[in-house]
Amino acid sequence: MLTHLFSPLNIGPVTVKNRIFSTGHQTMMCANGLPTDRMIAYQAAKARGGAGLIITESSRPHKTALQHGLFMDMTTNTCIPQLTRMAEAIHEHGAKVFGQLGHSGALAVRMIDGIRRTSFSASTMFDQRYKNVARPLDQDMIADIIEGYRLSALLYIEAGYDGVEIMANHGVLPSQFLNPRLNQRTDQYGGNGENRMRFLVEILQTLRDGLPATKALGVRFSLDEREEGGLVPEETIPVCEALAARDLVDYFNVTGGTMQTCASAINVTPPMSYDVSHLESDSGALRARVNKPVFYAGRINQPQQAEELLRSGALDMAGMTRAMIADPNMARKAEQGRVDDIIACIACNQACIGHLHNGVPVSCIQSPETGRELELAAIPDPERSKRVLIVGGGPAGMKAALSAAGRGHQVVLCEAGPRLGGAALLAQMLPGREEFGGLITNLEHQLHLAGVKLHLNSRIEAADVTGGAYDAVILATGATAHMPDGETFESAQMVHVNQVLEGTVNVGARVVIFDWRGDWPALGLSEMLAREGCYVRLVSEDPAIGQLMQTYVRDTWLGRCHKLGVEFIHNACLFGAQDDSVYFMHSQSREPIILEDVDTLILSTGSVPDIQLEEELKQTGIELHLVGDCLSPRSAEEAIYEGWQAGLKL
Ligand code: SF4
Repeated sequence: MLTHLFSPLNIGPVTVKNRIFSTGHQTMMCANGLPTDRMIAYQAAKARGGAGLIITESSRPHKTALQHGLFMDMTTNTCIPQLTRMAEAIHEHGAKVFGQLGHSGALAVRMIDGIRRTSFSASTMFDQRYKNVARPLDQDMIADIIEGYRLSALLYIEAGYDGVEIMANHGVLPSQFLNPRLNQRTDQYGGNGENRMRFLVEILQTLRDGLPATKALGVRFSLDEREEGGLVPEETIPVCEALAARDLVDYFNVTGGTMQTCASAINVTPPMSYDVSHLESDSGALRARVNKPVFYAGRINQPQQAEELLRSGALDMAGMTRAMIADPNMARKAEQGRVDDIIACIACNQACIGHLHNGVPVSCIQSPETGRELELAAIPDPERSKRVLIVGGGPAGMKAALSAAGRGHQVVLCEAGPRLGGAALLAQMLPGREEFGGLITNLEHQLHLAGVKLHLNSRIEAADVTGGAYDAVILATGATAHMPDGETFESAQMVHVNQVLEGTVNVGARVVIFDWRGDWPALGLSEMLAREGCYVRLVSEDPAIGQLMQTYVRDTWLGRCHKLGVEFIHNACLFGAQDDSVYFMHSQSREPIILEDVDTLILSTGSVPDIQLEEELKQTGIELHLVGDCLSPRSAEEAIYEGWQAGLKL
C-alpha cells in the first residue's frame, strides 16, 4: 500500500494531493524564450497522469542570466499568455504548479551573433566546465538582479501559478555567493556566513514581502556539491536552518552536485551506475533540522521506493522527474495498484538530459511519445484494422508491435531467437549497465498487456508472407557485426565486441579495443575486462573517448576506467594488425601509431543492416516498413522511435 505517497501535504498555504512532484528541468521546448504549446502538452501529460505538483523549468529573471531562446525568458511579460495556459492545463487535472527562477551566474553561457557574452558571479570566478571567467557583480547590479527576481516571480503569480521556487542548487549564482571558496567579496555580501547568504536572503525576503500570502515560496539546494571546494552539508544545512527560522520559505528542495565541474555535474542527473536515491541521507539530515517540508530528487525510479523514503522520514515530497518522462502516467498507475504496468525509467540519460545537452526537446528512449504529445494527438485513427506481421523482437520490433496494436491492428510478432530484446540483451551485460535490461522487461510486459501474439524461435521467410495472411509487414530484423576485411589484418587475433559480450571468445590478458562507434560498448567492455585483470588499451579515432555518449554516462565510465588503469589513446584510425601488433594512423597527422604485445584486437566497429528479407519482400508488393538497425544501425532510441512511428503509419 502506497499510503504515504498518496496522502496530501500542506506546503505553506498550498495543499498538494500527493507526494509526487516533477522537478524544474529544462525541456528545450521554448522558442525565442517563450513556452511553446509542446511544453504545455508535455507538462500537462504528467499532471493528467496523476502527479501532485509540477515545477516548471527554470526561467531567467534578469538580463545577466539570459542564455538562449530555448530557456524561458522572464524579463518581460510576453510569457504571460503561455504561462497562463500552462497553469490552466496543469490545474485541470488537480495538480499544483510552481515556477522556478534560476540565475546561473558564472555558469551562464550566452552567445549572440557568435559573440560570447560576459558572465557574472559574486567574485571573479573560473569554472572548469564552461570555461567562463566571471566578473564580480557590483552592488547596483545585485540590487537590479534581486528586483528581477521579484518582477519575474510576480509574472508567475499573474499567470496563475501556485508558488515560486528559487534555485540555489547545482552551483548557480546564490550558491556562488554562499561558497566561501568562491565568494571573495569584502562588502556586506562576502566574508562571514551571514554576509554570504545575504544575497539569497534578500531575494527570498523580497519575494516573501511581494507574493500573495496564498502562494508558496521554496528554495532548491545542493546540500552537498560533491566536489573539492564545493559546498558541504556543514555549510548548507545551517543556511537552511536560518531561512526556516526567519520563515523565508515554505519548503526546501534537496538535490546534490554542482554544474561547475564535469565530475560533480553527474549528480544533477545520475545515471544507472549510481545507487538509487543516492542522496537520501542529505535530505533526511535536513528534515531532522528544519520544520518545513523537505523535497528530494535523485534517482527515485519507482513509487514503492518513494513510499519507503517517505515512511522512513527521509523526505516529504518525492521528485520523480525521469520516472514521469519514461511514463507520464506513473502516478496514476501507482495509485491504482498497477505498479507492474509502469514503464520504469532505467536512468540511461539518453533522451531526457541527453536531448537537453544536444539542444533538442526532451523525451525518453522507451517512450518516444513523451515530448511529442501534440504530434501523437494529431494522427488520425486508421481506416481499418490490418493484419500486421512484425519480423524481429528487438526494441524496434517490440515497439512497432505495441504501436500497431494500440491502434487496433491485429499484430503477430515473430522473433528468430529464443528471447526478445535484440541488441539490448548485450547492453545489459556491461558493468553499470545492468538496468538497461529493464527496457526489455518493460516492453515485454506491455506486449503482454496489449495482447500481441508472440512467436519465439520463429524465423520468417518471404514465403510466410506471400500467402495473403498479412496486410502489412514491419521489418525489424536488426544488424550483424561489422568486421573490417583485407590483408592488413592477417594473422592477428581479431574479434568483434559482441563476441566478447556473448562469451564466445578468449581474449587473453592484453587487449586493444578499437572504438569506431564512440558509444557504450567500447567503454563498457574496457571496464569489464579491466576488472577481470586484463591490460586494456582503448583507442578512438575521435578527439575524445565516448564522443556520442550522454556526457554524465560517459564521464562516469571514464572515471571508473581510469581507476582501473585503462589506457586511452585518441585520434587513432585503425590501419591493420599482424601477429601481436596493431597499427594505427594518427587521425590528423597520418603519422603511424603502433601498439605491441596485443593478445586480441577487439573491434567496436558497428554493424551491418540485415536486408535479405527486405530485398525479397520488396518484390511482393505487400505494405512494408523498415525500423531500427535493419534500416540503419543506431541506438535503442532510434529503434524504438521508428517502431512507434511505423505503427502510427499503418
Ligand atoms: Fe529514464 Fe532513459 Fe527515459 Fe531518460 S531516456 S527518462 S533516463 S529511461
